[in-house]
Order: sequence, then structure tokens, then C-alpha cells
Amino acid sequence: MKTKMKQINPLQIDETIMEEAGRLIAEGELVAFPTETVYGLGGDALRPEAAQKIYQAKGRPSDNPLIVHIADFSDMDRVAREIPAAAQKLADAFWPGPLTMIVWKKDTVPSATTGGMDTVAVRMPNHPVALDLIRKSGCLIAAPSANTSGRPSPTEAAHVAEDLNGKIAMILDGGPVGIGIESTIIDLTESKPMVLRPGYITPQMLSNVLGEEVIMDPGIIAADDTRKPKAPGMKYKHYAPKADMVIVDGEQEAVVSEINRLSQEKQSKGQKVAVIATDETRSHYRADVILSMGRRADEDAIAQHLYHVLRECDELNVDAIYSESFRTPRIGQAIMNRLLKAAGHTVIHAGE
Ligand code: AMP
Ligand code: MG
Repeated sequence: MKTKMKQINPLQIDETIMEEAGRLIAEGELVAFPTETVYGLGGDALRPEAAQKIYQAKGRPSDNPLIVHIADFSDMDRVAREIPAAAQKLADAFWPGPLTMIVWKKDTVPSATTGGMDTVAVRMPNHPVALDLIRKSGCLIAAPSANTSGRPSPTEAAHVAEDLNGKIAMILDGGPVGIGIESTIIDLTESKPMVLRPGYITPQMLSNVLGEEVIMDPGIIAADDTRKPKAPGMKYKHYAPKADMVIVDGEQEAVVSEINRLSQEKQSKGQKVAVIATDETRSHYRADVILSMGRRADEDAIAQHLYHVLRECDELNVDAIYSESFRTPRIGQAIMNRLLKAAGHTVIHAGE
């Protein structure tokens, strides 16, 4: 299949291109599109064949459910058996935005879309191209991240093309995304609201709006496999670069010297080493490639650069990656969740 690549200016949307894209979705084809979090791979959420095409294009296990994207809160009624009061409150506060809610599903949602689950994940993305595509298609759009399963999520159209060129009908290139990590997922089907995937919207922000405690799924905090995460997607090795990656935690000076020591050890064996650093520390490292996530105090920049940096490591064919850790105050939990998965939970504590 030939994949059409179309540039779209989010501030001045080309109606002809969007109509073509909407028609493709309505015909059961797949279109990749920008959202504020990462690029999505969209298909008609209510048609099982479209869901199957998505799994096939991504090489994704079909027990890993898809998020249904909607453009108006009233669309929730088309997929949710009942709308919990909490959903309305959270939508008022955060939609459109980087928050996915899990609710009980209606029979209209095929089990192919929900990976066989009785619940459905719903989100209203905060991106003019995504919202326009949903409206023009007349469909609700099932969209996982537009990467090959297991690779870092795409934060620009070129990443989508790298993974999916020739496998899908169209890629809408709306430029680099704003947030750079996937949406926060909150489960509203349990007695207590529970975060299944940390993201830009923190448990504290959710709890402030709901006026009750929001817990974190114990399965995603565990550093080992003793507890299974509730979101099936969180159990897979994910977001992973090809090289072996190690996170080095600790005081800045100790981290720098430990990473330099480890890098030298690898280099002496003829290996190519990348270091993931910050603007403040990059000049202190000696390695083949030094990549900065941005200023340490700029959490938004770190989230934005994360997947790009991991993909760059792949492109540069490095053998080993050493990364500083990023336990930043607000979205650090979300950033570290991705980074730890990329590193297969290998963490070294420097200076101990
Ligand atoms: P992605 O679309 O690539 O961001 O991945 C979607 C994530 O949402 C995966 O981790 C899924 O396992 C999770 N997810 C989607 N639907 C559900 C659901 N009904 N219950 C729990 N997790 C879900
Ligand atoms: Mg994904």
C-alpha cells in the first residue's frame, strides 16, 4: 500500500485534505494523525475490521485494547453503558486534553477494539487536527500510538513514517507534538478512581477535581513482575530503544563520574555509547554520543524530548545507553515510568 503523507497546518486546516482523511477512516482505512500527546494511528472504533488492521499495522498483541477518541462529550453516550458522575467532572476540568477514562462499555463497541474487555477507554484529544478528523469522519476513532509495537511512541510524523510507511493509507503531518508522552489513564470502574498509566495530568490534579483520593495502580509502581498492571499495555516491554539501557541515579557529581566510568569500560571493548543528559551536564560527559533532554528544571521539555532522544539512539546504532534519572516534581512519575520501561528497570545508584 502506498502511504500518502500530507502536511497540515494545525492553525489553518486544509479542508480538502481533512475531508479525504475523514473519508478514508469512514471507509475502514487507517490514518495517522497528530494529537497533543503523541501521534495516533486511527481507525473506525465501532468496526472490528478497522481494529484488526490497527493491530496488524503496529504488530500489537490483540489483547491490548485501543483508546476511543471522541470530539464531543455527548459522544461518550455512544460507547459508555453509563456515565459516572466523576467522568463529567473530569471532562469539565481536563477535556479536551491528555486524560483517558476507563468506563463500562456498551455492546456497540466491538470487543476487537477493547481487546476483549468489558470496559472501554475514552479520550477527547486537545488538537485541532485530531478533533477535525473525528468530526469529518463521522466516526469515533480508535487510536493507539502510531508506532510499531515495542518502539518509542512517535512525537513527529517522520517517526510514524519510519514505522508504518507502506502499511497505512495516510499520515497527517501536523508538526511535532506538544506534550510528548501518552495520556494519563484513569479507571472509573473500581470503587476508588485509579491511575493505570501516569501522564501529564497527575493523581493530585485528578484528586483535586474529584474531591477524593486517587490511587496509583500498584502494578505499575512495582519494579518487578510480582503485580500485574491493570492496563494490559503496561505489562509489555515498551518504549524501548534497541541498545541496552541503564539509568544512573544519585547526586549529580556522582552520576557524572559513574556514567563516565561505565562508558569508558564499554568503549574499551569497542562498543558505541550514548549518554542521556541535561543541558547543565552534557559538557561533563565523555561518550560517543551525548543527547540532552533539555534543562533539568524544564519538565515539559524533558517529556517532549524523551521519545525523540530514544529514537535517536536507535538511528545512531549505539550499543549501550546510560541515562541520568528524571524524578522531576510534577510529571517525573510519568517520565520515569517510560524511562524505566525503556531501561527494563535497570537502575544503578551512584555514590553508594
Ligand atoms: P496507546 O493507545 O498505545 O497509548 O495504549 C493504550 C493504553 O491504554 C494501553 O496501555 C492499554 O492497555 C490501555 N487501555 C485501553 N483500554 C483499556 C481498558 N479498557 N482497560 C484498561 N486499560 C486500557
Ligand atoms: Mg502505545
